[in-house]
Amino acid sequence: MEEQNGSDSHSRNRKGNEQNEMEISFYGAAEEVGRSCIMIRAGKTKILLDAGLGNINEPGNDQNGKMRMPEISDEELKGVSAIFVTHAHLDHCCFVTHAFARGYKGNVYLTEPTAELMKLQVADYVRISKPEEITGKVMKALASSYKVVEYRKPFSFRNVRVEFINAGHIIGSSLIRITYNGKSILYTGDINLQKSLILNGADLNNIKADTLIMESTYGGADDIYGDQEARAEKMINSINATLLAGGKVIIPSFGIGRSQEVLMFLNHAIESGRMEKVPVYADGAVGKIMKVHRRNLRYCKKDIREAMQSDKNFKFVSRNERNRIVKGGSCVIVTTSGMMKGGPVVFYMQKLASDPNNKLIIVGYQADGTPGRAILDGAKEVDFEGHLVPIRLTVEQHKIMAHSDRKNLEEIPRRVHGLKKIFIVHGEKGKQISLSQSLVLAYDVVIPKIGETHSAVSHGSRSAPAVTVLPMLKHSPVSSLLTSPKNIL
Ligand SMILES: [Zn+2]
Ligand SMILES: [Zn+2]
Repeated sequence: MEEQNGSDSHSRNRKGNEQNEMEISFYGAAEEVGRSCIMIRAGKTKILLDAGLGNINEPGNDQNGKMRMPEISDEELKGVSAIFVTHAHLDHCCFVTHAFARGYKGNVYLTEPTAELMKLQVADYVRISKPEEITGKVMKALASSYKVVEYRKPFSFRNVRVEFINAGHIIGSSLIRITYNGKSILYTGDINLQKSLILNGADLNNIKADTLIMESTYGGADDIYGDQEARAEKMINSINATLLAGGKVIIPSFGIGRSQEVLMFLNHAIESGRMEKVPVYADGAVGKIMKVHRRNLRYCKKDIREAMQSDKNFKFVSRNERNRIVKGGSCVIVTTSGMMKGGPVVFYMQKLASDPNNKLIIVGYQADGTPGRAILDGAKEVDFEGHLVPIRLTVEQHKIMAHSDRKNLEEIPRRVHGLKKIFIVHGEKGKQISLSQSLVLAYDVVIPKIGETHSAVSHGSRSAPAVTVLPMLKHSPVSSLLTSPKNIL
């Protein structure tokens, strides 16, 4: 258990830290999902783990879909030695551009697929949100900063050892392990313990760490989803019913990861004769991202690599083919954006949502204030970019998960050897409290707040563990950027 006199324990820890202890500061993803940005101080070395924006695509985000920035000062950013990015989702990588604009001069370490996807993600963000401080010069500095690393190949960065390990969340996603003075911190980024159709689950084999910084997106008591394949099977049966009745099926999905997963489920079902052989169209950014997967097949499961390379059962389409598709026969359309706030899905909904023969299948999370959430909540009419569209098609939800569910989140700490302390991040507060209650008997558990700095290691006796939330170092917040993202991946 930590001592309750925050400032005293902090000043002592800080002094100790100069020689031998790591400290962790939380600038984002604390009691919220989005804007992941965590600093590890190891002596004079300062490492940022992720630098993301508030995310419209995940729970816990602000209702108007505005993107928030991590609350790190420009002065702190200038002193950062390196940024390590776990994966290419907006809420983990897009603040990196702003870091360069504000004086960061170091490199960005990440895996090859993360680098490729991050370039697409950042370009998309800059094109749509047009942040003033992101100039051509900033983009150039970012472009020459990428340092590609491999899974399970530890390297030295100044006085720390660093290791990237498969996190199972999207292609190239990583857990990051930092070791300094005999102590290790493992940061999950976003983690999926279960294998998916395309990716192996997170690789937690033989990992030793004293401290775990763990995401908690689906950490609520009810967030138990079971087997992905069984859920996908139900989805296929439902698609079949609509196709047999002559209808069209729209599957809006998040561009990076989930859309490839959906396409592969459909491909698999067609190949094995479980699904009607109809045209499957992939529209929006889905094709570009599939190409990144094809260039990085060694990051995908062995048994899916051949199927990933074949377009036999689906077709990537562009704007000028959309009219023909909506006027044509039965088909499945997989398209961005996942929450139907922008992207080609808007066109398809405008044309197809009023026909009760059609079906909408929702596979991802729908944030408050999005058309997707309104439809899930039973809206009879929805405004799609100025067109009021009657919702008469059948609406179903079949979750395709890229995160660990509650059961998996409880298992992760048990798989880490020597673990003493857990920081729970990247989740709604209620879910974090619920998750902490199931971990607190075995570990020191901390639910950090934005702006806090904590000692990485566990002090004191293990006999009376408790959830500790101590306000420590406060940093002045930077102002939030107000943008209206429409089709961010
Ligand atoms: Zn993610
Ligand atoms: Zn995330």
